[in-house]
Amino acid sequence: MPASNTKRCAFSQAVGKGEIWPAFQPIVSMDNGALIGFEILARWNSPRFGAILPDEFIPWAEEDGLIDQLTHNLIVSACTVAAKWSGDFYLGFNISPMQFNQDDMATMIFSAVKETGFPLHRLKVEMTEKTLIDENSAAHALLKRLNSAGVAIMLDDFGTGYSNLSKLQNFSFQTLKIDKSFVRNIASNMNDRKIVTAIIDLGTSLGLEVIAEGVEDIEQARVLQSLGCVLAQGWLYGSDMTSADAALFAGLHKPANC
Ligand code: C2E
Ligand code: CA
Ligand code: CA
Repeated sequence: MPASNTKRCAFSQAVGKGEIWPAFQPIVSMDNGALIGFEILARWNSPRFGAILPDEFIPWAEEDGLIDQLTHNLIVSACTVAAKWSGDFYLGFNISPMQFNQDDMATMIFSAVKETGFPLHRLKVEMTEKTLIDENSAAHALLKRLNSAGVAIMLDDFGTGYSNLSKLQNFSFQTLKIDKSFVRNIASNMNDRKIVTAIIDLGTSLGLEVIAEGVEDIEQARVLQSLGCVLAQGWLYGSDMTSADAALFAGLHKPANC
């Protein structure tokens, strides 16, 4: 069997055994470092192949019909541990575009969270613009169902999908995440800075929460703050963490009124 097939087969077994684990990456308020939420990122440490990143294994999970099981397991394990931590932070889960075609996706999410004691209204779903661009009416109904149950929607990688802005207005989402490709050179590249300014202004005028992704240094953070961006995620504030480190982070970065 080719090595790539062996790896894929090992991945499939790892999903079945619940070995894909949730890493927690903090989302913070840049002015005081207060924790707002964590994005949950899937991780696989294969005993045979080492650490494999989601850009490699998520497409396998999608193609091999394993993505729902993987998402369900991540929700259950992340919510179970986080339910024990104090604070009002949310957990954001990445959901693949194809999962928005399934009527029972919302039911899967609700039942996964219910088992854990984590409040549903502190769960958020991250979706990419691609899900909207595909003219997906099932997605529209699903987003409404999630919203009605108190689950907010975050539009991930914003700016990369060439969305028709008027179409965006028809969907129910509450957060824009500025893609890290625009943040990377924001201190030196005027075009990137103009794009980010436009996204922040658009989000703010629509009353949305805006999060800058991929903030790696203080210079980027300063520029973002000068443009009116409040929330950020990136290595400057915290990388992907185990649940033990995330529990410590949550304890140390509580908002002032918590
Ligand atoms: P994403 O949703 O855009 O996640 C953010 C990615 O940026 C993560 O890569 C994260 O580790 C990385 N990152 C965070 N801070 C920084 C930074 O300051 N600089 C740089 N250069 N990168 C940073 P990761 O974990 O490799 O995930 C890649 C993609 O895989 C994610 O992109 C998401 O689309 C997908 N993914 C991850 N977990 C899941 C999952 O559970 N389900 C699904 N459907 N997709 C997932
Ligand atoms: Ca994401
Ligand atoms: Ca992203």
